[in-house]
Amino acid sequence: MKRDSFIIASGCSLFITGIIYALNFIYPSLVKLSVIIIVALFCICFWTVYIIYYSVVGQKLKKITQLLSEDPGELNPSLNGLENEIRKLLRERREELEKIHKLEKHRQEFLGNVSHEMKTPLFHMQGYISTLAENNIDDPEIFKRYLDRTEQSIERLIRILEDLDTISQLETEELEGEMEPFDMVELCREVLDSEEINAQKKNISLILMNEQEKMAIIGDRFRIRQVLLNLVVNSIRYGKQDGETRIRLKNDSDTVMIEIADNGIGIGPDHLPRLFERFYRVDKGRSREQGGTGLGLSIVKHILEAHHQSIQVMSTPGVGSVFSFHLKKAPHYSSFA
Ligand code: ADP
Repeated sequence: MKRDSFIIASGCSLFITGIIYALNFIYPSLVKLSVIIIVALFCICFWTVYIIYYSVVGQKLKKITQLLSEDPGELNPSLNGLENEIRKLLRERREELEKIHKLEKHRQEFLGNVSHEMKTPLFHMQGYISTLAENNIDDPEIFKRYLDRTEQSIERLIRILEDLDTISQLETEELEGEMEPFDMVELCREVLDSEEINAQKKNISLILMNEQEKMAIIGDRFRIRQVLLNLVVNSIRYGKQDGETRIRLKNDSDTVMIEIADNGIGIGPDHLPRLFERFYRVDKGRSREQGGTGLGLSIVKHILEAHHQSIQVMSTPGVGSVFSFHLKKAPHYSSFA
């Protein structure tokens, strides 16, 4: 840059020198002064051009160079901040849109599943009742069999509606208000007792490992009962003849771990990641045949999430499954225990 202004200043000086020499022919007395004048003019021109160039053209060139450069960090900091802000907003909008698309997909899938699940028992009922009404069946045995099947379909519809109702309650209600301390061992015993008759049908033994202890935890007793019941019912439903279901409680530092293990049919590793999705079943036929709605484990997951906990599963086909979760100990745990 300095070189440019030097060239321009030299050009200007030479031009002015030329004029002075021309004047010298007309007025010779000026010759002695000419050298001093040339040097002075050269300096004036040099610094004038330097200042103008640097303050106006130089600054503009600097900005253009910065704009074209790869490192925007050197750019005007406010512009750079604005650009980052816009990028952040765009990223957030894109993420929100993806979330909305995902929710919409889930909603459609859920509605499709609900209508499919409800259609099946309704069509069965319609079939049995139409047959009875149109065919004038006199045989009381056939009559009773069809009525029993209709009743089974009604029961299945009721179970689906109850589970859907539970899910919608869990999605809207706040569990925080229902948290209370209670003895987990006592609750496990209560749940196992309630399933004794079902277990007997397959000669499955229901075992509580910590029978003699007391373990005070804090949670929504009604909802935790639902968790235990769903897991115990599944252990029987997918358990083997003459098998067993074991509940074990283990004291951790500030939580109690609850484990429900069975030696039933087990679950293949491919199914484990989707097991807690609504209406997901490993074996659809077996689940329906056993009265399953496909919603039990998603309810379990929902309830434990409301307690800020999660459910774990380990399973081997043909060997059995272990479901486990933690719950917070009640604050006055030692006095309770
Ligand atoms: P369902 O009403 O069909 O039992 P769940 O949500 O409770 O629905 O369970 C989802 C699926 O997970 C079941 O259909 C079954 O295939 C599998 N499952 C759940 N618990 C067990 C278990 N203890 N042993 C083997 N399979 C299980």
